[in-house]
Amino acid sequence: MVHSQVVVIGSGPGAHTAAIYLSRAELSPVLYEGMLANGTAAGGQLTTTTDVENFPGFPDGVGGQELMEKMRKQSERFGTEIITETISRIDLSQRPFKMWTEWSDGPNDAPARTADAVIIATGANARRLNLPGEETYWQNGISACAVCDGAVPIFRNKPLYVIGGGDSAAEEAMFLAKYGSSVTVLVRKDKLRASKVMAERLLAHPKCNVRFNTVATEVIGENRPNGLMTHLRIKSTIDDKEEIVDANGLFYAVGHDPANALVKGQVKLDEDGYIVTQPGTSFTSVPGVFACGDVQDKRYRQAITSAGSGCVAALEAEKFLAEGGHSEPKVEVESGAAEYKSNPAL
Ligand SMILES: Cc1cc2nc3c(=O)[nH]c(=O)nc-3n(C[C@H](O)[C@H](O)[C@H](O)COP(=O)(O)OP(=O)(O)OC[C@H]3O[C@@H](n4cnc5c(N)ncnc54)[C@H](O)[C@@H]3O)c2cc1C
Repeated sequence: MVHSQVVVIGSGPGAHTAAIYLSRAELSPVLYEGMLANGTAAGGQLTTTTDVENFPGFPDGVGGQELMEKMRKQSERFGTEIITETISRIDLSQRPFKMWTEWSDGPNDAPARTADAVIIATGANARRLNLPGEETYWQNGISACAVCDGAVPIFRNKPLYVIGGGDSAAEEAMFLAKYGSSVTVLVRKDKLRASKVMAERLLAHPKCNVRFNTVATEVIGENRPNGLMTHLRIKSTIDDKEEIVDANGLFYAVGHDPANALVKGQVKLDEDGYIVTQPGTSFTSVPGVFACGDVQDKRYRQAITSAGSGCVAALEAEKFLAEGGHSEPKVEVESGAAEYKSNPAL
């Protein structure tokens, strides 16, 4: 069993930014980057996309994979020890915290490592619908992030579709209306789940249209390598009538699943499963456990916001360790999440 002052779990922009700060502060961090943890390659969600055009410092854009390789190199350059294993279990009940990896996690196995502070940066996954054609046209017309992908040329002045009935769907549709010729929101039921304010704004938007009682059943497109989607098969949930519509973009707004399995039942989560952090900080309900990136952010979910919160987590972990690991729980019963839900203007 090996002991470290601080361990980072995750491998996206949040984890690597935390590792860069911690290693430059000479805290010898260990980063577990996972081995297809939570179904995603080491490097996180950006490894599943092509061009990232909104990360500062890359005026011509940068490949998602390339950006994560650069971050990984930067973590290593300052002395982060990166271990390509998935943390399968963690015990946060007392310090030092104990953790096991997938390869050393039997009933009698000693923990693989202990640590005085832990940064949880395990990210989230956008939910998919597994439609026929989804695998073929993923990132060639299909996306789960309008803010990330909406501005790319393939969507300009083209008919676009959004699936979902909540605030995110409404927000994504109105954002996409800047680019597409029209935006149609498909809603399975006969009403929107979105807040009243958002629903009214969406329904009044001149370029947005909502089709209730309608689901997508197939994505259709060009039959060539890297071909783009061109049509969508949709179906009425009332009479099963099918239709094929022109569609050059399909955006899923059906929710995200934060990767909380490791800490569920040990740190406070909100009603959607995100780790609750004290607003503006990375403090969780357990002193010495910090969270950053998408696993604690249901609002912005961007590479740059994950990186920013990784910096915050590292600085707070550094202070915690410098003070000898003495700290009261920072997260009280009331969470930022409750405020967010009741304030659609945020
Ligand atoms: C297709 C797509 C395109 C996107 N495009 C953009 C874009 O253009 N611009 C932008 O700003 N944002 C974009 N995003 C969003 C961005 O990728 C995320 O906001 C960001 O990656 C979140 O970073 P994170 O640090 O929270 O971790 P993530 O990127 O979610 O990565 C976390 C990783 O941690 C590892 N991990 C999880 N559990 C464990 C464990 N138990 N042990 C060890 N390792 C573990 C896994 O490898 C996991 O993938 C996109 C997202 C997707 C899905």
